[in-house]
Amino acid sequence: MPRLQGASSYDRFRTEAEEIGVPRDAFAAARLAGPLATFEGADSWVEHPYRDGVALLGDAAATSDPTWGQGMSMALRGARVLRDALAGTDDWDAAGHAYAADHDRAYAVVHRADGWFEELFMEPGPEADERRARAFPLLAADPTRVVDVPSSGPESPCDDAARHRFFGED
Ligand SMILES: Cc1cc2nc3c(=O)[nH]c(=O)nc-3n(C[C@H](O)[C@H](O)[C@H](O)COP(=O)(O)OP(=O)(O)OC[C@H]3O[C@@H](n4cnc5c(N)ncnc54)[C@H](O)[C@@H]3O)c2cc1C
Repeated sequence: MPRLQGASSYDRFRTEAEEIGVPRDAFAAARLAGPLATFEGADSWVEHPYRDGVALLGDAAATSDPTWGQGMSMALRGARVLRDALAGTDDWDAAGHAYAADHDRAYAVVHRADGWFEELFMEPGPEADERRARAFPLLAADPTRVVDVPSSGPESPCDDAARHRFFGED
């Protein structure tokens, strides 16, 4: 989809917002008050972000959908894990590979959990509505059902059992 960029995109922004369900009235008195821009929100990542003495950290290693607010934590976590690996051995090549292996594992968890949040909270359509109708009352009654990866990090449970509880499929 073409980017929205600058004041000339405002009409298209309104049209597209209305198409996805924003009430027409919401924009009745609206004026453009600042820059209008869009950015790529899809996840992108490299496998094993270390090679030949060069480690990629933060968004250079993996960007995740900012909707779920995981990128800064992943960047800081990566810096800590790489620091600890380098400080723990004189074999810095091995340390780089250990960091990259940990990053692959941790990012896979964040990616999986983000996907579940998107499926449950953002996906449109009747099947998604059904999913929400089943899960939301259960989540409201027992907040421990909510997958905790976004708050507590990639060591939190994110296996099939966690998914079943989150989606109310247990
Ligand atoms: C809209 C939005 C909301 C977000 N909300 C959250 C949130 O709530 N919580 C969260 O954890 N994360 C959030 N993130 C993600 C978070 O901002 C990033 O994951 C994080 O900033 C990545 O840090 P970084 O140091 O890897 O990269 P960056 O913060 O992008 O830093 C890279 C720096 O390098 C500079 N640079 C680039 N090229 C060059 C060059 N050639 N020479 C010199 N300098 C250069 C750039 O100007 C930039 O300052 C959000 C991201 C977006 C876009």
